[in-house]
Amino acid sequence: MSNLEGKNILVTGASSGIGQAIAIRFAQHGANVAINYRGSAEQAESTRSMIRVLRNGGGPGKEMVVQADVSGEQQVRTMFARVIAEFGRLDVLVNNAGIQHPSASHEVEITDFDRVLAVNLRGPFLCAREAIRHFLSRPGGGVILNNSSVHEIIPKPKYLPYSVSKGGLENLTKSLALEYADRGIRVNAVGPGAVVTPINRAWTNDPRARREVESHIPAGRAATPEEIASVFTFLASDDASYITGQTIFACGGLTLYPEFRTAWSSGE
Ligand code: NAD
Repeated sequence: MSNLEGKNILVTGASSGIGQAIAIRFAQHGANVAINYRGSAEQAESTRSMIRVLRNGGGPGKEMVVQADVSGEQQVRTMFARVIAEFGRLDVLVNNAGIQHPSASHEVEITDFDRVLAVNLRGPFLCAREAIRHFLSRPGGGVILNNSSVHEIIPKPKYLPYSVSKGGLENLTKSLALEYADRGIRVNAVGPGAVVTPINRAWTNDPRARREVESHIPAGRAATPEEIASVFTFLASDDASYITGQTIFACGGLTLYPEFRTAWSSGE
């Protein structure tokens, strides 16, 4: 992967799941990684330990752990100030933190709706705003990557705030990409399908439920976090230097209308 060595990366929600895998994958490419977490310092430290283990096997790079709730404006500002003070500059922001709240749509409490939107959409906006202010303050541009979802384009009944937040993230990605393309800033998103992470405890820990989920995926299985992380490092690298405003779906075919795997509508 070209040019990630020595680059400075901030990954939000990097204490578990896909965010942890992204932090580790950037470190494998020799990048310096800021590991953001909201609640569990212990889990964030475990991401740092995993990175240190692989660095001891050889390879350059630094890492830091930084606490912040991405939905809080002041906390986000303080996080960016700390990361830029520690690393000297920031090259790549990965907006990964996200939550979901299952409920029949007519029973969603406004506090739950607001909370999901605050973490999944206001958070990426607040972080992107700080990143862009920094990118514009010095030469060299920068990269912003958003962890979206197949539910950016596929409706998700009973997860309305989540679905709405990911739909909004598509527009955030495209609008920022268009606005800043001429200043060397690329903005893209990754749209994972079903990935084996803590957010999916409900089915990952239950073999029957997992078989049911995987039966709907054309590739026949859920993804590992590492399979998603590698799309982030690609999009951050110069190998993707002419890609902006796109969502790359890493979903094992989930966005291909799996119901049409067999002909059922043409009378054949
Ligand atoms: P996860 O629950 O392991 O990761 C979410 C992370 O976000 C956690 O580390 C959590 O602590 C952090 N977080 C939550 N609220 C935060 C806040 N306010 N501030 C900072 N951090 C916060 O689950 P995951 O699957 O790794 O999810 C990561 C991202 O991937 C999410 O945006 C999710 O929507 C997206 N995604 C996941 C899947 C999947 O199947 N797992 C599919 C599509 C998209």
